[in-house]
Amino acid sequence: MSRTKQFKAESKRLLDLMINSIYTHREIFLRELISNASDAIDKLYYHALSEGLSGLSREDFAIDIALDKENRTLTLTDNGCGMTKEELENNLGTIAKSGSLAFKKENGDGENAKDIDIIGQFGVGFYSAFMVAKDVKVVSKAFGSEEAWCWQSQGVEGYTIDPCGKESHGTQIELTLKDNTEDENYDEFLETYRVRELVKKYSDYIRYPIRLPVQKSRVKEDTKDSEKPEYESYTEIETLNSMVPIWKKSKSELTKEDYNNFYKEKFMDFEDPMRVIHSSTEGTATYNALLFIPARAPYNYYTRDFEKGLQLYASGVLIMEKCPDLLPDYFSFVRGLVDSQDLSLNISREMLQHDRQLKIIASRLEKKIKSELESLLKSDREAYEKFFSNFGLQLKYGLYSDYGMHKDVLQDLILFTSSFEKKLVTLADYVSRMKEEQKYIYYMSGETVERIDHLPQIELLKEKGYEVLYLTDDVDEFALTMLREYDGKEFKNAASGDLGLESEEEKEAAKKLGEENKELLEAMQKALGDRVAQVRLSSRLKSHPACLSSDGDLSLEMEKVLNAMPSDQKVKAQRVLELNASHPVFQKLRELQREDSQRLETYTSLLYNQALLMEGLPVEDPIAFSNQICELMQ
Ligand code: ADP
Repeated sequence: MSRTKQFKAESKRLLDLMINSIYTHREIFLRELISNASDAIDKLYYHALSEGLSGLSREDFAIDIALDKENRTLTLTDNGCGMTKEELENNLGTIAKSGSLAFKKENGDGENAKDIDIIGQFGVGFYSAFMVAKDVKVVSKAFGSEEAWCWQSQGVEGYTIDPCGKESHGTQIELTLKDNTEDENYDEFLETYRVRELVKKYSDYIRYPIRLPVQKSRVKEDTKDSEKPEYESYTEIETLNSMVPIWKKSKSELTKEDYNNFYKEKFMDFEDPMRVIHSSTEGTATYNALLFIPARAPYNYYTRDFEKGLQLYASGVLIMEKCPDLLPDYFSFVRGLVDSQDLSLNISREMLQHDRQLKIIASRLEKKIKSELESLLKSDREAYEKFFSNFGLQLKYGLYSDYGMHKDVLQDLILFTSSFEKKLVTLADYVSRMKEEQKYIYYMSGETVERIDHLPQIELLKEKGYEVLYLTDDVDEFALTMLREYDGKEFKNAASGDLGLESEEEKEAAKKLGEENKELLEAMQKALGDRVAQVRLSSRLKSHPACLSSDGDLSLEMEKVLNAMPSDQKVKAQRVLELNASHPVFQKLRELQREDSQRLETYTSLLYNQALLMEGLPVEDPIAFSNQICELMQ
């Protein structure tokens, strides 16, 4: 036997790191070895194609797994390109030296480049075997070579390499599993069901059959008809993987049923998805994507527990269960997967985050999802509204977040209830039917559509025939504030001081009226103290004597939302009490100003509290309020 060779120095440290920390799940060793085997077959197949070797066809290739409980070995055999002695030394003696990558560099230019679709390019996968094995034996015979070599290692100490016998080309890797300890049990990797499960999970779409002999039992032929049939056991070779992933099939081959079944099985939903997006792209980024919009929001969707992300495959091999970087937050409801051959099968999440290809793919997907939603909105309004009732809130959060950066993606996807017919409308719908002289897009916030519909603040707008958007979710007004305008039209809170509706003459007349009643307004403002910034005459009120509005950027609704959040800092909108000078109550106020200043104070306070109630805000002192009313009644 030959002398033990040391791993190259840096390899030793890397190997140690590898075994102990890089992979969190040791079960992935199987995925790595299968991927290597599949690569090796790809390489041979590629040579066969490019050099016109006859007699090799795709059907001849396979990856075989054998489990031996007695000797505690798991053996993986492929009939790929195999390795020469030098290749064994170079590829397995130096960690992070990837033969696959070198191969791609040599052969990857020109026409055939895209045919080479090789998973392992990083050069560490093989060593993951040491996470579960105390001894790794690699017997390999390069295609076209006469000799076979055996590489063997027990880990960091080094490896040996010796000539040996092997019938046909390819590689056989035999792992002797580590001994069980109190905390760790390695026996699971000797169980048929477990190996089947792992292949299904990580390597289902490897294009060559991954086979495993499985023990089964059957009734003995000659005892079939007897009263006591006897059983015998036999071995069947089971192919564990399904090989062709649905997303690699062409759309024309697939039915709605196929997609729905795949979705329900894979993502464990009991309902069909409401929309399927199947796309393949070539060019700057080559990938297949299969995305689904669920029919219903998962129960934890709007909680912290919800984790967004798409499954990520590198050439058919699952490398991440939930890759968050593929989806923006506002589309976090999308489920599905992406398979690309352009991704290097990197070793850690952190590295993946900086992957340029991944970024390109993510931005393509975003566009795709957006256009899909837009087409749904156009073609099936009812379905879109259903979608929106599930995920609309998330889109609105998206508008608000990152300082409105995602405006272009999202502004045409959101809906609000309109004062017209109380139906959901888009901003484009609204703008398309604005009145000729109308300057703003008006909105009003409140608890429910019904409540907003009765608010005094929008009476004038309604009278003028202007449409008003009714905002009922907390985030709505924040989102619109972030948006500022749509199609050149600014948003205007119907409860803000100036609605921009008055003509110059009307303004002049209002100013005059204000001056005439200056003393009354001042007296009322004094009575309210710092509860309001101003008391003034209103031009918007029709049937109500008073209402609240606000000056400045912070509206009453925003004040409500912000103050409901867990924070010590409370905010206060600049409140304005608006009075309707044509209302009989106003005449009463004028009378009182002349005759009974005490009572004026009481009335002022009553009007203010009424306005608060209509706004859905609490009255400040309910007992005083109720006493005042009783006083009036007596
Ligand atoms: P990677 O697969 O990321 O390149 P590995 O450490 O898994 O890194 O493997 C190192 C190299 O060893 C591979 O690039 C390949 O050239 C070679 N190799 C590994 N397994 C096999 C195999 N089953 N058949 C042929 N070559 C293999």
